[in-house]
Amino acid sequence: MSDLMNVDVALGRILNEITRLNTETIPLDTALGRVLAADIIASEDSPPFPTSAMDGFGVIVEDVAGASRDNPAVLDVVADVQAGDSPMVKLSRGQAVRIMTGALVPDSVTAVIPIEQTDGDWQNPRPQVRIYTDAASNANIRPAGENISAGWVIAHRGATLRPQDIGILAVAGQSRVPVLRQSRVVIMSTGDELVRVDQPLKPGKIRDCNCITLASMVTAAGGIPYRLPIVADTREAVRAAFEYALDHQPDMIISSGGVSMGAVDFVREIIEEIGAVDFWRINLKPGKPLAFGKLRDVPFFGLPGNPVSVMVTFDVLVKPALLKQMNRGDHLLTRTAILQKSVKSDGRRTYLRVKLKKEGANLYADPVPVQSSGALWSMVIADGLLIIPEGIEQAQAGELYSVRVLRAGFEE
Ligand code: AMP
Ligand code: MG
Repeated sequence: MSDLMNVDVALGRILNEITRLNTETIPLDTALGRVLAADIIASEDSPPFPTSAMDGFGVIVEDVAGASRDNPAVLDVVADVQAGDSPMVKLSRGQAVRIMTGALVPDSVTAVIPIEQTDGDWQNPRPQVRIYTDAASNANIRPAGENISAGWVIAHRGATLRPQDIGILAVAGQSRVPVLRQSRVVIMSTGDELVRVDQPLKPGKIRDCNCITLASMVTAAGGIPYRLPIVADTREAVRAAFEYALDHQPDMIISSGGVSMGAVDFVREIIEEIGAVDFWRINLKPGKPLAFGKLRDVPFFGLPGNPVSVMVTFDVLVKPALLKQMNRGDHLLTRTAILQKSVKSDGRRTYLRVKLKKEGANLYADPVPVQSSGALWSMVIADGLLIIPEGIEQAQAGELYSVRVLRAGFEE
């Protein structure tokens, strides 16, 4: 047990080797979900001029003082101002302008009276309008800069851009934005037993699922996966695959399989030959064997072959590295749940696939029946990964454990 490396120690060592990617400037309409690389400062007010908040009449407030239904103010309508106009009109006392929502409010207008409070009729415009109410100064006038003011930081470095952020950047005329690059991740499965998903099975063969699962996890984490063809269990094939991986100028390389003690597990040997590798046996279940290193400065993860081990080692050790490259946070929820059945553990930190059930304020975790690291189905039916810490031999029913939530619906 002592030869197994603590999970947090392993993660610390990995993160120590990971540096943030550089930035790129991209069109605003492709920036949703990307991480902003610099503060964006508004260079102008928005709106840039006072605008009418209503369809109605622009007036001078003194002209409507004391006006009511019984005692309307009667004003001469001297102009129409539509949204988009740049009116030259200057009101004199006793005058009004017909004005639309969003139109620039001329300087001389000190309030806008909504059309409902007048006898105005857009269909039959008349030379005069009756105003049935008085108004406070600036009523229904949105001041310049009501939305954002010049000099404000309207989007912060490190923010993951949401639709409203994209919108405000458009308001500010920011047609291109500096963002962190997305990690380009080359992924490959190794194993003579593997065939592609679109190939017929023959005796002794199984379909490769790791490559596509990993690619999906990379995408979900915000990276860009590149999948290589299945790699045969020969030194030559493994060497060629890593050389080919490097041709893609990736930010990370991930392989699955071939890192155990089997006769044809060549990943470690080849990485040692063309790069630098640390091979670790990690105090983690599932997912004990793991190779981590660098191939010409590109971080490399050699994950185990079993599909659940692939998912757990990715979640625990690879994803944090990927997120660090892209300066992203992890949005997977961790909750506390009550274990419903006692389970034996072997002292490794164990990620148990569990079904979750909410009952009142409590969350209950029931281990799924098959916990084999080869049974990917356990990840399909699980709602979460319950974490049994290191050094525990028996996790007792009724005890509280942290759970990584894998499915929506257990947020609170
Ligand atoms: P290995 O670490 O290469 O010995 O693989 C461990 C187990 O995982 C074996 O049962 C493999 O058949 C299985 N395995 C390895 N790679 C994959 C893959 N890409 N898809 C599905 N199963 C795999
Ligand atoms: Mg293998």
